Amino acid sequence: MSAHYTDKLLNFISAGPSPWHACAEVERQLLAEGFTAFDEAAEKWHSSAGTRGYTIRSGSSIIAFRMGDKPPAETGFRVLSAHLDSPCLRVTPLPERQLFGCASLALDIYGSPIIATWADRDLGFSGRVSVSSEQQPLEIETLLLSVNRPICRISSLAIHLNRKVNEDGLKLHKHAHLPAIWGLGSGSRNVEEGRFRDFLAAELDLPSERVLGWELCLHDLQAPVVSGRDDEFIHAPRIDNLGCSYAALSALLRSLEEPSETTQVIALYDHEEIGSTTDRGAGSSFTRDVLTRLAGTNPRDLSRAIHHSAALSADMAHAVHPNHPEKHDGHHNPILGGGPVLKTNSSWRYATDATTMGLVRALAASANIPLQEFVCRRDMRCGSTVGPIVAADLGIKSADVGAPMLSMHSIREMSSGQDCEQLSRLLTSFLSW
Ligand SMILES: [Zn+2]
Repeated sequence: MSAHYTDKLLNFISAGPSPWHACAEVERQLLAEGFTAFDEAAEKWHSSAGTRGYTIRSGSSIIAFRMGDKPPAETGFRVLSAHLDSPCLRVTPLPERQLFGCASLALDIYGSPIIATWADRDLGFSGRVSVSSEQQPLEIETLLLSVNRPICRISSLAIHLNRKVNEDGLKLHKHAHLPAIWGLGSGSRNVEEGRFRDFLAAELDLPSERVLGWELCLHDLQAPVVSGRDDEFIHAPRIDNLGCSYAALSALLRSLEEPSETTQVIALYDHEEIGSTTDRGAGSSFTRDVLTRLAGTNPRDLSRAIHHSAALSADMAHAVHPNHPEKHDGHHNPILGGGPVLKTNSSWRYATDATTMGLVRALAASANIPLQEFVCRRDMRCGSTVGPIVAADLGIKSADVGAPMLSMHSIREMSSGQDCEQLSRLLTSFLSW
């Protein structure tokens, strides 16, 4: 295992406490490798063989590409997809609450976090804030903001007041029990109103009236770590799915070392955790719009290119939990440290079919990468990924892969640096296939 890769992965996770920050970090790394920004509003994209470019939609979904030496209509695309968002708690509009001596902030739930894991953590917040410009009140800009101090806390109830917590588990009611304490109350609801906006304005060094809106995720301040007896594990937030987003990004950057006839693409989306059907999600027009421009000027260029193309969707996979082995089907048992995972589902919750299954197995074998298999228990609901969504929209042959992990959607997840690195190598071999 390369400690180097694991360190870079953990730095990437730290740099991305919100999808907007994760997107900005991807952009930073692309710019450092000579990629240039392309604007969806531009009349023409001037791209030619070897052009390295990217475009961002709504600040949190990004598609990056390196044009192949031959036109996409002749050699197609190799598309890697993953998602930049993670389940979390977010600050609502008008969040201030005045409750029994404490000033609290109302929270909304993004995706499906394991809510109990957010209790008794030191929480900062991060995301973006919309502000009016100084001269033109109707001109709106969005600013990234990350507050990395322990501002908020969701305190658990003492066991003396919740005697059955160890039998029943820690249950937090999604409405009543989530307001996060962020200060001592002023005793007056009127005084509390607007305090959060004032706080944001002070953080951004702006007058309060210029702060108009926000999308802010709470995040855990505990840093990601390498862990385990032999440093074999990682503990971190947002491994699902920054682990795979980084694998895709590093695969693209590694691929630059060799020439490529095909056009290599990575698509890293926001909004996977809430179903992808949004203006910037995998279910939006984003991928098709970008690939249409890259394919060429003839209306048939895209469909010709897709005919020669393939896609891999990379999303973290469920390793067998050693204390809960009955949750896997007994024959498809990915384990931590066992290598990347190929995911299959007959109802197309994953986009793998016989052709792409063969391709992934052949790529893994030729690159000497171990490959594990995941099929969900037939009596359990199978998760899904952006893979089938992109496949259905473009008509592109696809497969779903991932790296094994535990504690998916906990505030603190667990995986193996070696598995994540091997996944990245598998994605690299796919890009240059
Ligand atoms: Zn995921």
